[in-house]
Amino acid sequence: MRISYLALSEARCTVQVSGCNFRCRGCFSNERHQGGVEVSPARIAEHIPTGREVMLAGGEPTMNRQELLSLLHELEGRKVIISTNGYCLDRELLENLADVTVHIDLKALDPDLHRWYTGKDNSRVLEAVRMLHDQGFDFEVNTVYIPEVIDAGEIERIAAFLSDIGDIRYKVIRYVPVCGFSRRPGKEEIFAAVSAAGKHLDTVSSSIKNRSHPEHRHVLRLDR
Ligand code: SF4
Repeated sequence: MRISYLALSEARCTVQVSGCNFRCRGCFSNERHQGGVEVSPARIAEHIPTGREVMLAGGEPTMNRQELLSLLHELEGRKVIISTNGYCLDRELLENLADVTVHIDLKALDPDLHRWYTGKDNSRVLEAVRMLHDQGFDFEVNTVYIPEVIDAGEIERIAAFLSDIGDIRYKVIRYVPVCGFSRRPGKEEIFAAVSAAGKHLDTVSSSIKNRSHPEHRHVLRLDR
């Protein structure tokens, strides 16, 4: 499995997988590009104590499903969260993801906007959200608020779409600008987007109040 690094902390360990099948215009992740080093799932698991919470992120951790399933096998005894763009989450893969929590990105509901922003169609992602709900997964949907690109109107439409499926947890993520793409949204913009989504869903949070990554963490780069 190609990984960029492990981020270790008391609260949560993160495995940053290299490579991504999306080409988001505002990608804030260095891990989207191939790179990193090839490390066996057993060696990754050695660094993560039993009982610890571990997030598999990237990049995109579901692209190579055999490697993902091997890593999950090695991580038995840890609470695993998969952070994914959802494109590879088909029925067969979900059937093999017992006891895993899923954080799935829904970048945009509008198909043209999604294709423009990511390079991919969003129909598979929408279907993945439905399957996660119907199969009773512990999951949340995340959208990055990007000023003038993914705004409060789009976030409210996503929330309305989710509410038609069920009472789904939804989180608005504050964009971190890279390479001059858009800007960092103000807190009041995020709160307004959360409030707009809250018209449709009971459980809406934001990355301002509820960080995904612990502040105090030790980054470990593994070599071959
Ligand atoms: S899905 Fe995530 S890692 Fe992949 S290109 Fe988009 S923002 Fe970057």
